[in-house]
Amino acid sequence: MRKEAEGKTRIVILGAGFAGVYAYLRLHKLLHDTKEKHITFISERDLFTFVPMIHEVATGTLLPSSITQSIRSLPPCCLNRFIEARVMRVDIDAKKILVHHLNPEAPDPGKRIKEVSEEEVPFDYAILALGSDVNFFNIPGAKEHTLTLSTLEDARRVKNRIIESFEQAQITKSEAEKRRLLRFVIAGGGLTGVELAGELADLLHGELKKAFPLLYPYAEIHLYEGRERFICFANEWFGNRAFQILSSKHVRVFCGMPLSEVSSEGIHAGGEFVPAGTVIWTAGVQAREIEIVSKKRVLKDVKSRRIKVNEYLQVLSYPYLFVAGDQAWIEKKERDQPYPMRAQFAVREGEVAAENIVRLMSKKALKEFFWRDKGLLVSVGKGTALAEVSGIQFSGVLAWVLYRVAYLLKIVGLRAKFRTALEWILNTFLPRDISKL
Ligand SMILES: Cc1cc2nc3c(=O)[nH]c(=O)nc-3n(C[C@H](O)[C@H](O)[C@H](O)COP(=O)(O)OP(=O)(O)OC[C@H]3O[C@@H](n4cnc5c(N)ncnc54)[C@H](O)[C@@H]3O)c2cc1C
Repeated sequence: MRKEAEGKTRIVILGAGFAGVYAYLRLHKLLHDTKEKHITFISERDLFTFVPMIHEVATGTLLPSSITQSIRSLPPCCLNRFIEARVMRVDIDAKKILVHHLNPEAPDPGKRIKEVSEEEVPFDYAILALGSDVNFFNIPGAKEHTLTLSTLEDARRVKNRIIESFEQAQITKSEAEKRRLLRFVIAGGGLTGVELAGELADLLHGELKKAFPLLYPYAEIHLYEGRERFICFANEWFGNRAFQILSSKHVRVFCGMPLSEVSSEGIHAGGEFVPAGTVIWTAGVQAREIEIVSKKRVLKDVKSRRIKVNEYLQVLSYPYLFVAGDQAWIEKKERDQPYPMRAQFAVREGEVAAENIVRLMSKKALKEFFWRDKGLLVSVGKGTALAEVSGIQFSGVLAWVLYRVAYLLKIVGLRAKFRTALEWILNTFLPRDISKL
């Protein structure tokens, strides 16, 4: 529903991810009793996706609907309008956002722009929270010949490709071609790569072995990491344990070996060519870029493209524009480092940005952003996870149960929580779903 602003303060949230949704929930909490409610939400999909569990959709443990929540089912009383559109430009001085409406008929969301339909959305305050994009590090062929894993559409493509590879291998006579088709390479041993490798190994040695017994001996999973260890941003223990667990699941693990080229036939790494039918790119992200028009310079970190903001999450020189989540570069006071691009930080940043807008409206002192890492949970397939809580590291079933409980609490929406819990329970006793999505 669209209501006129009628002198109210117009707040626009860009991006319905962790930062955007939690910013809205905080604004709702602070403003629902007041008349100062003119909040517009803009995102290219009408749903929130719980991105950290996307690898479970790609490997058949969860269905897409388990990790999504409709934006329109958020508390509606404070929402003036939800606009399903792609943000193209933010004109900071003019306080206007240009959006392109999307073509709902297009199957590929990447091609959903409807050129004819665009709109300018005015704002008094805005929170920029458009998340991140894949970084291919200019590696030749990576963009053209790999599958990415950061959206629901990506997860569908990955799952379908895994099953199709087996179907293709069934009709191929050549032994070498069977091996190539069934060699699954994961490029990047960060959180996503490790979690995907663990789940994919379980899928391969479980349901796919039963469904394709004659092809199973040809199948291999390779995980390549360019740095010396997996999950390199975390304590060394995580990388070492991940290496051990994945090796025990027959994943061929390579550290210190970045991919130098990708082609339709395979990959080049460590001076060798490795034939592979599927390469899944989990090697890196950078902040999403959109056009920003401003008279004063908006500073960005060159490498990560994140926008530099002050401790209150305001863009330097533009106090009415906030940035939260993966797009924000907030330097930690104690170390010359930005806060990491992770979900728990995005949630808190969204909340603090929302709170500071309300404080600006009521002329109160702003709140500084500060967040101490609550720990790290990494699943490595069924029944195994790695955990660090209050500085204590442990792995195994207990860590896995903790991972599931923690994530269940974080999933937005009761329906999604129940669906996820139900599917996890079913998967404990029944095979995963290996139909294409
Ligand atoms: C596969 C994967 C696994 C991960 N695993 C973990 C994990 O285990 N633990 C952890 O802490 N972190 C993990 N992360 C990182 C975590 O998901 C991000 O840090 C977090 O999602 C950032 O939140 P955000 O709100 O900035 O962006 P997002 O949650 O990505 O939300 C951005 C939103 O903006 C929308 N959008 C983007 N561009 C436009 C546009 N131009 N116009 C309109 N809308 C747009 C998107 O559709 C999306 O709704 C993972 C990330 C990925 C990709």
